[in-house]
Amino acid sequence: MIHKAVKSFGLGLTLLAASVSLYAKNNVVVVATGGTIAGAGASSTNSATYTAAKVPVDALINAVPQIKDLANVSGIQALQIASESITDKELLSLARQVNDLVKKPSVNGVVITHGTDTLEETAFFLNLVIHTDKPIVLVGSMRPSTALSADGPLNLYSAVALAASDEAKNKGVMVLMNDSIFAARDVTKGINIHTNAFVSQWGELGTLVEGKPYWFRSSVKRHTNASEFNIENIKGDQLPLVQIVYGSDSMIPDAYLAYAKAGAKAIINAGTGNGSVGNYIVPTLKKLHDEQGIQIIRSSRVPQGFVLRNAEQPDDQYGWVVAHDLNPQKARLLAALALTKTNDAKEIQRMFWQY
Ligand code: ASP
Repeated sequence: MIHKAVKSFGLGLTLLAASVSLYAKNNVVVVATGGTIAGAGASSTNSATYTAAKVPVDALINAVPQIKDLANVSGIQALQIASESITDKELLSLARQVNDLVKKPSVNGVVITHGTDTLEETAFFLNLVIHTDKPIVLVGSMRPSTALSADGPLNLYSAVALAASDEAKNKGVMVLMNDSIFAARDVTKGINIHTNAFVSQWGELGTLVEGKPYWFRSSVKRHTNASEFNIENIKGDQLPLVQIVYGSDSMIPDAYLAYAKAGAKAIINAGTGNGSVGNYIVPTLKKLHDEQGIQIIRSSRVPQGFVLRNAEQPDDQYGWVVAHDLNPQKARLLAALALTKTNDAKEIQRMFWQY
């Protein structure tokens, strides 16, 4: 009799402990979109030749059972795509799905598994349009899930640890790759063949070791709750058309003219050096701006540094905008969002200083 009572008391304690630990864990949703992290190759030695976006979200989660110790993890398959094929339609749909998730009181953090090619674009876009203080973490991998020393499982483990961490609240959208925690606005893919593929010229926010984040800096730019953009106010499945023209020597104006003809509302000039523009291209850009109201935004093909206003070109006089330190692909997204609100170059310039 006593033996039975002790046994059931023990069982009660075990159940209580289990429910307390369940209660103590945060709820993290893994939103899968495809990419190499969900890629599969023909053999384990195929680390660079493989098909992206093959493995479904449940298999990704089940491949890393240790993440269940970090959080209560559930999965959603939002897309199954290689990230270079993401268009406004997928980006907006993903943003709406993530927005719905972070609005749920039961969700504490979100991890988005994503191809690395345009991971920085999606991260920056979400950073601008989702109003939340909950951690949103994008993660990818450089090797497919089938490769020797695949980097996806540890990246996923660390991303879940970050999204489950209360310390990661209100830091803006983050990218977790190769143990580094980056801010969405200044992270970029810097190497396309190694696992340390992501870099930021301003440094990482922190580092993630054995499931715990260590912080070293924070971003001073506007993001998430402090953003004036909100996915809830953006209708339809297309953003205003903004395209990029890559600068070099010996250019012809045709690409600018073609984008203008296609209806571009802004052109990002991924210029040489300090966003410079060849003297034989300047008249084309002035014409597009003055006669068609197309915003000319000077960014740079140089991955580090930033474009100075009124240096190299008289931006005040021409009514052009500089992208500051945003790379061309991020400038494209900020310009598109800016154009949902204004076509005033001064206002757009303000946004480029602030985000
Ligand atoms: N092309 C792939 C993608 O972006 C590359 C990767 O995920 O690393 O989907």
